[in-house]
Amino acid sequence: MPKQFIIRHAKIYTPLTLISDGYIVVEDNTIKEIGREPYQGSVAEQINAEGLIISPGFIDTHIHGYGGRDTDEADVDAIYTISRGLAKHGVTSFVPSSVTMPHEALVKIAESIREARNEWRPEKGARILGLHLEGPYLSVEKAGAQNKKYIRPASVKELEEYIKASGGLIRQITVAPENPGALDLITYAVAHGITVSIGHTNATYEQTRLAIERGARKATHTFNGMRGIHHREPGPVIAVLEDDSVYIELITDFIHISPPVVKFVIKHVGPHRMVLISDSICAAGLPDGTYELGGLKVIVKNGVPRLADTGALAGSTLTLDKAVRNVHSLGFSLRETLMMASYTPAASINALYRDKIGLLAPGFKADIVFLDEALNVVKTMIDGEIIYEKN
Ligand code: FE
Repeated sequence: MPKQFIIRHAKIYTPLTLISDGYIVVEDNTIKEIGREPYQGSVAEQINAEGLIISPGFIDTHIHGYGGRDTDEADVDAIYTISRGLAKHGVTSFVPSSVTMPHEALVKIAESIREARNEWRPEKGARILGLHLEGPYLSVEKAGAQNKKYIRPASVKELEEYIKASGGLIRQITVAPENPGALDLITYAVAHGITVSIGHTNATYEQTRLAIERGARKATHTFNGMRGIHHREPGPVIAVLEDDSVYIELITDFIHISPPVVKFVIKHVGPHRMVLISDSICAAGLPDGTYELGGLKVIVKNGVPRLADTGALAGSTLTLDKAVRNVHSLGFSLRETLMMASYTPAASINALYRDKIGLLAPGFKADIVFLDEALNVVKTMIDGEIIYEKN
């Protein structure tokens, strides 16, 4: 007998539409039917979601760590600690991100992602979609918290090895277009179904255009680790914002980017191009203190992580539920805001139809977040199982 249940009387954001009093029938781990009440069929097991808001689970496509553990550790348990922690924040899928490291270290990380994904079960927490290589082919001038010692010219041969070690699970790579060899690497990555994201870059507008022409389709934490806008040298920011084919990552903790700029950018690109990310490090979910990122010492004060020696922002302690509350507070509709944390992140890494996530529709995974009116996470469902419940 297949496992079947129905979620009833929810305010459902698919998030392409709103069903104000809706139901979702789930069979095994998949959405079978979605509609407006009253439900006419008969399903024995019911979850009453009256007064709750429902959205596809959040999808974090750029995250380094959580709860004291980091992707860099190349350790399956570290990945699962992040998975479990993220479920509390409504995240049902994520793309663990590495930082710039020596080749052998990145190979080990790729292997750990493959293993973590292979042994994943819903009880582990958020799904592991693959690896985001943030670097190592970046700009030394715009390294931010990346270790400059390991930044190097783009190498297709190295990338081939990461793809192999991960079992084809490299989902995204951040590249600086002006890095030697970057354009050929972009062509190769795109041909292998990897989302190429432009970031940690000092590229000119023209150099950024060349990367987009080669198939780069995303911008890594736009504005942060990027040459700024100048009215005679628009740089990467204008190049990525003006092109409708490019998804825009933003860290909306209101520390990395001031709220008026967040508002301006979202108004300009719209929710169908806006990807909310956490870019969180191991310190997320933990108190202030001293931590590490890619072998560099990081001090977290008032929730803001900075490199101990340069003071550069070193990722964040943001979580996507908080990102959603922040963006909604700027006046964007709930439907649009939820889209930026689920549907659009999925689309940006080609996961909507490949992984069947990011949308509440028949045939899609039963990965669902239940929120209260204040947008706090009440329940997180992954693969049809309730993995987190607020008590
Ligand atoms: Fe970064």
